[in-house]
Amino acid sequence: MMQTDMLQSAEPVRRTLIKRAAGLSVLGIAGVIGIGTPSLSYAAALSKEERDKMTPDQIIEGLKQGNIRFHTGKPHRHDYLAQKRASAAGQYPSAVILSCIDSRAPAEIVLDTGIGEAFNSRIAGNISNADILGSLEFACAAAGAKVVLVMGHTACGAVKGAIDNVELGNLTGLLEKIKPAIDKTEYTKERVSSNDEFVDAVAATNVKLTLEELRKSDILHKLESEGKIKIIGSMYHLVGGKVDFFS
Ligand SMILES: [Zn+2]
Repeated sequence: MMQTDMLQSAEPVRRTLIKRAAGLSVLGIAGVIGIGTPSLSYAAALSKEERDKMTPDQIIEGLKQGNIRFHTGKPHRHDYLAQKRASAAGQYPSAVILSCIDSRAPAEIVLDTGIGEAFNSRIAGNISNADILGSLEFACAAAGAKVVLVMGHTACGAVKGAIDNVELGNLTGLLEKIKPAIDKTEYTKERVSSNDEFVDAVAATNVKLTLEELRKSDILHKLESEGKIKIIGSMYHLVGGKVDFFS
C-alpha cells in the first residue's frame, strides 16, 4: 500500500484523536498513529470548531511548547500533504505572527507550527505600518486569530542597519521606523552595531515599540480590551533556538 493511501485510510482515526486532543487546546495538535515502523506522528491543521474553543492563553502556551520541541530537537514530523488536504477548503489559524524577513528566523519552523495554523506577516525589522496593520486586522477581526505575536530576533541586520544609518533606496524609510528604538534603549556600554549585546537590546525595544504601534489600531485595541485576543512580544535567539516570550 502506498503511504498516501495509508494516510487516507487512517483519516477517521486521526479525526478521533484530534477531537480527544482538542481538550488540551494546544497549537499543533498532534495525531499519533501507529502505521508500520516507525510510527507516524504529525500535526494537523485546525478546524474552525477546534480553533474557536481555544483561549488566547492556551494558544500562547501552544506556541511556547512548539518552540521547546524545536530547540530540543523534537519537532513534530509534519505531514505537510495531510495538512494541505485538511486546510485547502478553509483556514482557521489561531495566531498571527509579525516577524522579520531574516532567513534564519522562520517563525513557523522555530515555533513548530504547520500549514493552516498561523498567519505570518514578515517584514525587515518586524516593524508596523498601515498595510501590516491591515493584515493583522484581517487575521484577527475577519479570520478569527486570537493571538498576535511580534517576534524579533537576535543579530537582526535591520536593527544594525538602523544603528549605522544605512541609506539604500526604499530601505532608508523602513529603517527610520526602527530608529526610535535606538534612542529608547537604555544602554551604557558601546552603542554600536558591532556590539551584539546592544543590537539585541535595541531589537527587544523595537518589539515593544511595535506592540505599541499595533495597539493604535482601533480594531486590535478593541479586540484586546474585550479579551478576545492577546497581543504579545517575543525575541528569538539565533544561538540556542529559544523564543523568549515577554509575558
Ligand atoms: Zn531581522
